[in-house]
Amino acid sequence: MNRKIDTQDFQRATRDTPREVNRRIILALMRERGPISRADLARTMGVPRGMITTLVRELLEKGLIQEGGTAHAPRGRRPVLLQLRSHDRFAVGVDIRTRRTVLTLSDFGGEEIAREEFETLRNPDTELQEVASRVKALLATAGAEGCEGVGVVVPGMVDSRTGRVLNAPTLGWRDVDLGATLEARLGRTVYVERDAVACAMARMWLGEQPGERTRDFVYLIVDEGVGVGLIVNGQPVRGRNFTAGEFGHIPLDLEGPPCSCGQRGCFEAFTSESATVERYLATGSQQRRDAEPGTEEGADAPTAPERAHLSVLELANRARAGDVAAAEALSETGRYLGVGMAAIINALNPARIVVGGAITAGWEWAEERARREIVARTLTPSAAGTPFLVDPCYPETRLRGAVALVVAPAFAAPQVA
Ligand SMILES: [Zn+2]
Repeated sequence: MNRKIDTQDFQRATRDTPREVNRRIILALMRERGPISRADLARTMGVPRGMITTLVRELLEKGLIQEGGTAHAPRGRRPVLLQLRSHDRFAVGVDIRTRRTVLTLSDFGGEEIAREEFETLRNPDTELQEVASRVKALLATAGAEGCEGVGVVVPGMVDSRTGRVLNAPTLGWRDVDLGATLEARLGRTVYVERDAVACAMARMWLGEQPGERTRDFVYLIVDEGVGVGLIVNGQPVRGRNFTAGEFGHIPLDLEGPPCSCGQRGCFEAFTSESATVERYLATGSQQRRDAEPGTEEGADAPTAPERAHLSVLELANRARAGDVAAAEALSETGRYLGVGMAAIINALNPARIVVGGAITAGWEWAEERARREIVARTLTPSAAGTPFLVDPCYPETRLRGAVALVVAPAFAAPQVA
């Protein structure tokens, strides 16, 4: 349903290509390259002008595209440009995070019109009640009649077909009928997706770099929890029962620290934000004990407010100010990240790994150790050199991903059986 057309490598369109596929190719070209003339469409797709004229007329009649502006031409009549109709089509995006819930009303081009935000309520019933009333408030915004759906991203496993949250460990939610509940309350189509998959889709559909080849890659979120969104051949991989991509819960150490899933020693338990903070606190205590022998273990245990104040961002600030323990805690997280990323590379061989989440604030300390582990634990030079890059837009990517859940089906390739 959401397979993205590769505009650099689609099979040459012909008279035999079904009309619907040709329409989708035109939409994909406009999405990636912006305003384009009929002549350029015909040239790029390798089909006669007459066929483009017919298809464009149909798309104009359906209201999916619009005319706007003229191209520069050295001589003769200047061609009229065509582009996606996005400014008066709207979507609501809802990002349910462990601590905050953020909502946006955006147009189909990803331009934000209004935003709402509140502290996430742990009880799913009250949380969904709050989400519904906030969505209604957003839709009351002038000019939002054209809202075509609501996209919701959740930090956990989601049956995206039914909109059911199967298990979101960091929220403590299991079997929450999120999609149906919101649809009943809002009377609109609701799309629900795992956060990392939605971030990957945002990268594909509303990406910062147009034309970036994003058909085979992994989006790795390292936050309170750890999530993986996997795109293969331009399509999200969800697995038979929507539980694929749970790399956050591959074990790195059977006797390791407890994890949100109830097991011990998972990738997430070593690399989450709280794992990094705990590592810092433990090193700090040890160093103080070394400096003052005789201090009892636990005598200088951090207070709850001190713990609550700490974050990866705060550790990065301290590391920058010369706090060696902070730098070491971030670097050690990088080491575990590298071990997990090597496992992802060995299993999936992605073209690249895009990293989003709290850890990116401390990336300058984590990166080198991560790369060292990847080089040591992958089996070919090309695997060892798998590029990984930080997503500078996170956490906005989550919200853009929520919007992309509504936008993508409109511009996606039809499923070819
Ligand atoms: Zn786990």
